[in-house]
Order: sequence, then C-alpha cells, then structure tokens
Amino acid sequence: MRTREQYLSSLADGREVYYRGKKVQNIAEHPVLKIAATHAAKLYGIQKRTLVDQDLGEISRYFSVPHTPSDLMLRHKLIYDTTLACNGVFNISQAIGSDALFALRLVSRESDAKNGTNYNERVRNFHSKVAKGDLTLAVAQTDVKGDRKKRPHEQQDPDVYVHVNSVERDGIIVSGAKAHTTQAAVCDEIIAIPTRAMTEKDSDFAVAFAVPASTPGLKMIVRPIDELEGNSSALVSTEDYELETLTIFDKVFIPWERVFQLREFDKAGLLALTFATYHRFTAVSYRAATSNLYLGSALSMAKENGILDAAHVKDRLGEIIMYKELMRMSAVAAANTPLIKEDLAIPNPMFTNIGKLYSNQNFSKVLDALVDISGGIISTMPSLEDQMNPLESRDLTKYLVGSGGGEERIKSIMLAKELAASSQTGYMLTLMLHAEGSIEASKMALLKDADLTEPQNLVTRILAPNKVG
Ligand SMILES: Cc1cc2nc3c(=O)[nH]c(=O)nc-3n(C[C@H](O)[C@H](O)[C@H](O)COP(=O)(O)OP(=O)(O)OC[C@H]3O[C@@H](n4cnc5c(N)ncnc54)[C@H](O)[C@@H]3O)c2cc1C
Repeated sequence: MRTREQYLSSLADGREVYYRGKKVQNIAEHPVLKIAATHAAKLYGIQKRTLVDQDLGEISRYFSVPHTPSDLMLRHKLIYDTTLACNGVFNISQAIGSDALFALRLVSRESDAKNGTNYNERVRNFHSKVAKGDLTLAVAQTDVKGDRKKRPHEQQDPDVYVHVNSVERDGIIVSGAKAHTTQAAVCDEIIAIPTRAMTEKDSDFAVAFAVPASTPGLKMIVRPIDELEGNSSALVSTEDYELETLTIFDKVFIPWERVFQLREFDKAGLLALTFATYHRFTAVSYRAATSNLYLGSALSMAKENGILDAAHVKDRLGEIIMYKELMRMSAVAAANTPLIKEDLAIPNPMFTNIGKLYSNQNFSKVLDALVDISGGIISTMPSLEDQMNPLESRDLTKYLVGSGGGEERIKSIMLAKELAASSQTGYMLTLMLHAEGSIEASKMALLKDADLTEPQNLVTRILAPNKVG
C-alpha cells in the first residue's frame, strides 16, 4: 500500500496552484499549505485501513463498494474514526471520491442500459486504478453558477457551469469553474460531476469526468487559511485543516476513458442526487466525530471556570451531546435501512437528509453553548506572543487563573477561542451550513422522499363525510 512519504512526494508534479497572489511551487513544502497535505497524509497511518477485495486485492476500505447495511455501518465507523484520528477534522481524501465513484457506478449502468454507452466499464476501470494506486481524490461538483435563478444554458457566460467545449476524436475538451473544491490542491485526482438536474437545453453542462490534479489547463486558487495565519495561538489548525479551491478548467482535454457522462441531461440530476446522498452520509458520520471537539472544549472550559456542576452548564453540554448523537443516530439509521440497487447499498436518503439538515440548522447552537460556558475571555485573551514574553507571562498566568492553574486555563481558552471565536469559527459555521449541500437542497430531498400517502389516507379517513356527526 502507498506510504505517507510516497503521497507527499507525489505532490511535486507541476500542478498549477495559487495562494495569496503567488504561484505555489511545491505545495508539500509551502509553509502554510503543507499542513493540508500532511493532514491528508494521516490517512495512510490509520490503523486497519485496508481490506482484501475479491477482484482488486488489498485496498483502502474507503474504496470498498457497500453492498449491505453492515458495509455501510463499517463505512460510518471508518469515517468517524479517521476524523477522530485527525483531531476531529474531517479527512476527505478518499471519502468524497469514493462517494462519487459509488454514484457513478449506479448512474453509468442506467445510462448504458438506456443509450448503449460503455460508461460503467470506464467507471469500474477508474475505480480499480485509484483503489490499486491508493490515491486521494477531490470532487468538484458545485459550479460557480452565476445568476442562481437561471439555468446553465441561460447564463450570460457559459463558463459559470463546467461544460463541453468540443468533442474530439480521442476525448472531449471542457471549460468552466467549480467553487469550494475541498483538498483539490493536494489530491491526486479530481472527479467533476454536475451540480444539479439539467434540461435538454443544458445538455453541454451534463458532463462527468476525472482528471489528474496536474492536468494542463487546470488552475486552482486556494482560499486564505485565516484560521492559522490570523490566530497565532491556534492549536488544531497547526496540525489539521482542509483547504478549498476555486477550480478552473481552461479548455482541459479529457480522454474518453475518463469521461463518465456526456450530454445525458436526463441522468445529471440522478448523478448529483445519488452522490449527495452518499456524501451526506459521510457528512453526518464525520460531523458526529467533529462534535467531540466542541464537547471536549466545553467540558474543559467548564472545568477550568469551576462551573462544571452549574445547572445551565449541564443544559448547554446537553445541547452539544444532542447534536453529536443526532448525527450518529442518522448515520446508524441510514446505514441500517438502505436502498438496495442491484449490488449497491445506498444510505437511506430520508434519514441521511434529516441528520444533515439538523446539522445545518443547529451547529450555531453548539457554538453558542461553547461561547456561553467559556466566557468573554475567548475573544479578549492577550496573544501567544504576550504569553511568551517574560515581562508579561507571569501576569497572564496569575490573572487568567480559574479553578486550577493559570497555564491550564490559558491552554483551554486557546482551544475554545480557536473553535468559537476565531476565523476558524466562521469557516466551520459556513461549512456546517453549506458543505455537502445547502439547507434548501436537503429540504428539497426530504420532501421528494417523504411518503405522504400514509398521513393523507389517515386524514382522509377522519374527514370522510360519513364520519361527521
Ligand atoms: C467548507 C466547504 C467545503 C465544500 N466542499 C465542497 C467540495 O469538496 N466539492 C464541491 O463540489 N462542493 C463543496 N462545497 C460546496 C457546497 O456544496 C455548497 O457551498 C452548497 O451546495 C451551496 O452552494 P453555494 O455555496 O454555491 O451557495 P449558493 O447556491 O450561492 O447559495 C446561497 C443562497 O442562495 C440560495 N439559492 C441558490 N440557488 C437558488 C435558486 N435557484 N432559487 C432561490 N434560492 C437559491 C441558497 O438556498 C442559499 O440560500 C463546499 C462548501 C463549503 C462551505
């Protein structure tokens, strides 16, 4: 299997990455961005991360196709445990790519059956390639979208949705841009899929493919890592964070063997939604693990402030526990009641979306609870530089003392500040609200999947004319 070192050295491949207005030469050696790479590399040190597949031999468990509820439960546990091993920060490196591969397996089969194409064979070959190579993947689904009310073909500039420029003898040429692509700048391969359902007029935008991150014409512009550069006392982000890129495809050539959808507009929505279901299952799994960061920090601050047994603190801790366990419950329920489509177990979309929606709508309560328990000091504590200055440090440990020692409380405040009162907070709030699909996207899925016949029949029976009087 691939080692951490092999992965890190593979990143020096000439990929076109920009950070804060400068081109990055080797991302694995960049003073700030290398942390996104070493975070991803932690995947290669996860205990018991492989299994032996009948066809592929020894592979990462992420690439193992779920056939049964227990396969999905194992996947939930894998994502949960990997997140905990990365200090509560999600490690997307093989999770999102396998979510997309499972969706592509299903949709390509349906396309082939209808149109006589050979997408499924291409998807399977690509799946084998990444599994055998133990590669990392990003998924670029979210287009930059332009005017949100307009369909892709109605946009003034077609490049606001990734689309087909031309069909050549050996493949296709694509252009356009995707937003927020997590870990694209430190992955081996990027899978692009449609972000929404398409109409016939949007056919050129119904396109799915995979490209190596170093492909000519592919340009990635990384977001500022403010949580690290703007907070000298950051603890988690010095070891683990994920970066996002604006991912630009400027007339990129995609050979046929890497094209998985081409103008099958009627299958774009199915692909977008099936991927979203797998990926939201991934989301509730990692979010359950990430909640431990906030719960642990709140417990630590309650202890340092000497208020662990106060009634309102118990209430607040209860709110975070509920958030965590609701994530876990939705993952467990979704794993145990999947949709089975041929050989694929798809997490129950209803239970997955309920968990995801709860997470979107209630993460601010988790932050609220942590801020309440911590006190104003998480915003006003002097900096790490002050703590390191001998002329000030004694004052800080003397005056920032709590129920225990000043040093312990300062450490605890540093973590609570990073989580609840820093730019990392804004990033995480946005992530919890939008990543893996917006609130509206989950609501739409919920209403689509809800069985309304039972309640309608019940009320019809009650309201039946012969029952009145
Ligand atoms: C940290 C982070 C990581 C992410 N990682 C990835 C990734 O790896 N890959 C990937 O593909 N995506 C990723 N995403 C993208 C994520 O899925 C999107 O942010 C989400 O789907 C919302 O899309 P948007 O950001 O374009 O927001 P918008 O769609 O611009 O939403 C803004 C508002 O407009 C509303 N709106 C949008 N369209 C309409 C309409 N037609 N009518 C009425 N209202 C509308 C929305 O409901 C929302 O209220 C990530 C996002 C974040 C924050």
